Amino acid sequence: MLVAVLSDIHANLAALRAVLDDAGTVDGVRVLGDTVGYGPEPDGVVELLVDRGALAVRGNHDVAAIDGEGIDWFNPNARTAIEWTRRRIVPATRDWLAGLPARFIEAPFTLVHGSPRDPIWEYVTDPEVAAENLPFLATPYCLFGHTHVPIAYRREGRLTRAIGPAPGAPIDLDDRPLLANPGSVGQPRDGDPAASWLLFDSDGPSLTWRRTPYDIGATQAAMRAAGLPAPLIARLERGR
Ligand code: ZN
Repeated sequence: MLVAVLSDIHANLAALRAVLDDAGTVDGVRVLGDTVGYGPEPDGVVELLVDRGALAVRGNHDVAAIDGEGIDWFNPNARTAIEWTRRRIVPATRDWLAGLPARFIEAPFTLVHGSPRDPIWEYVTDPEVAAENLPFLATPYCLFGHTHVPIAYRREGRLTRAIGPAPGAPIDLDDRPLLANPGSVGQPRDGDPAASWLLFDSDGPSLTWRRTPYDIGATQAAMRAAGLPAPLIARLERGR
């Protein structure tokens, strides 16, 4: 069984379409939150995910888009974009976002946006934070997003080490606990503007990072037409 693991799509429909094309005939699509915010096409993205039967959890941008929760923590550009999103989304998009769980368990994985102990808000940015989160995990592995940076953390004896990313090179899942981040589909921040995601293969089992180029210009044009903040438009081509 093959499952595409996506996160932080951020209403970037061109990027999502390219990733789903690249993934081909997978058996499932999972989304680790921040489906909306920043980008120009929240309704189109949710519609396509529903069409593909994707299962998703909620991220901090998703909760802000529903009811403004946490909006005071957003930087000015993110806030402008989320206020635009709140005004714009159709009821079906709002209802889908409002129905997302904060945490989803699908053995052997726990799916969250932020972290096992704080599923919506905490950033897992280094091995120390990853290690602190392992006791909060009820499954062997965790899939998380939020940082927009592809990386994994694995418990090895008494240490927790960062792994990867090495696109195309699978990480074998074994008896060592692991937290893995696919990176961001719609707003990569690791210096590579191509959409970043993970492919889970239950034969193995293994996780493999993938990078998918997409039509960045199309998303930027849609953002300009929507009047979204210029720095958010410019950052897409830098992957920062
Ligand atoms: Zn995000």
